[in-house]
Amino acid sequence: MRTNLAVLGALGVLLIAGCRPRVATVETPPRAVHATDASVRACWVESRGKLGFTASAILVHHPEQGSVLIDAGNSSNFDAEVQAYQGKTKRWFKTFPGALKPKLPLDTLLLRVGFDPGGLRAVLPTHAHLDHIGGILDLPPTPVWVSEAEAELIERGRDTVTEEVIPAHAEALTGQLEPLEFSGGPYEIFEQHADLFGDGSVVVVPIPGHTPGSVGVFVRLPDGRRVFHVGDAINSRDQLQRLRGRTPAMRRTDVDQAAAHRNVGRLRALSDQDPSLLILPAHERAAWKDVFGTPATSCPSGPADS
Ligand SMILES: [Zn+2]
Repeated sequence: MRTNLAVLGALGVLLIAGCRPRVATVETPPRAVHATDASVRACWVESRGKLGFTASAILVHHPEQGSVLIDAGNSSNFDAEVQAYQGKTKRWFKTFPGALKPKLPLDTLLLRVGFDPGGLRAVLPTHAHLDHIGGILDLPPTPVWVSEAEAELIERGRDTVTEEVIPAHAEALTGQLEPLEFSGGPYEIFEQHADLFGDGSVVVVPIPGHTPGSVGVFVRLPDGRRVFHVGDAINSRDQLQRLRGRTPAMRRTDVDQAAAHRNVGRLRALSDQDPSLLILPAHERAAWKDVFGTPATSCPSGPADS
C-alpha cells in the first residue's frame, strides 16, 4: 500500500513534469450534430478513488431500454488474475492499475446503490484494459458491448498472454462479447458512431490509439448537459488546455502512440467547438466530481422520483 501511494505520488509528478511532446492542433471536419432531447439518468459508481485518481463506472438508466454500465473498474480478484505475469509487467500492474483495486466487488457495490446487477442490459467498457473490464467478472453473466477491434483483442488474449488483456478476463468474457455496429455516419468530429438506444441519448464513437478498439461515449443528462467519457484517451483535462501529449505512464500502454497522440489534438478541437461539453477522462477524479458531485449512494432504476 505504502509503495502504491509513493508511486501514485510519483505519477502525479510525472503528470506535471513528464517530458511530453507538444500536440499539434488539427484541422477538424465540419461538426455533425444530431439534435435530440432524449436523455438518460446517470450515476457515478466509484469502485476506488485515491490521490486524485479514480476507477469508476457510469450507471445509465434509459427509461424504456434498460440499464447499461459504462466501464467496470478492477476485478476483486485482481491479485490472483495478474499472477499470469512476471517481472516488470507484473510490477506495473500491481503499482498502477493495482492502486485502484476495488474495496467491494462490483455486484455488491451496485446492490449498495439500490441496483440489482442481474438487471443490467449490458456493460460498455471504453476499452479492454484490466482496470476497465476486470469488474465485469464480479457481475452475473452480462452482454459486453465492445467495438469489433476490441472484441478481437480480447479474443486474442485467450490464447496469448498479452499486456493488453488479462488471460482470466479474456477467458471469462468468452460468449459475452457483442460487437457494436458503427453504422451511424459522422457524429461531432468523428467519422462514425453507434446510437445505442436510437434516440441520441447515448452515442458511442471509436477513438483507436490507446487500444485498437477504444471508444468514447457521449451521454445526455436530464438537465441538458452532455458528458463525453473518453476512457484513457487523455489522463486529465489539462492535457487539452496545454496541448501536451499523454504522460509517459499512459504512453507505455498505448498500442499506437502516434494515433493516441493525435487524439489529444482531436479532443481539443472538439472541446473548442463545444465548450459546454463535459469531457470525462476515466481516471481524473476531479472531472467526475465536476460532472456528478459525489459518487452515488442511491441509483435504482425506474423513474427519477421513485
Ligand atoms: Zn485505465
